[in-house]
Amino acid sequence: MELLLHTIQDDMLVRARKTLNERVKMVLKWDDFVPTLNSKCLTMIPWCEREECEDQIKARSTRDAISDEPEDEKEPSMGAKSLCLPHHQPEDPPIVPGQTKCIQCGHDAKRYALFGRSY
Ligand SMILES: [Zn+2]
Repeated sequence: MELLLHTIQDDMLVRARKTLNERVKMVLKWDDFVPTLNSKCLTMIPWCEREECEDQIKARSTRDAISDEPEDEKEPSMGAKSLCLPHHQPEDPPIVPGQTKCIQCGHDAKRYALFGRSY
């Protein structure tokens, strides 16, 4: 019984992870950022990790969402914020120090960060 319970929990975890992975999209240019958020996905972006930049991401994603409003009026126009800097960084493509740029501000990207809307 104990074992069965563990198996069930593992199944749920695997499914939850799968759903999460399917909802995370790699976004490598700003033009794709808001449309990806609008499709109810989280975005993984090369990011500079600057607080100022996060504020700009929040502001731009809010404004862009509002300008998109006729497409889907029910879409929340909340700005996006950083959710985490994943331990397991995507490797395809990898962040190349000095070459990979933050998709928002163009500064050198440090790591991939997960961004999503806060509801
Ligand atoms: Zn930046």
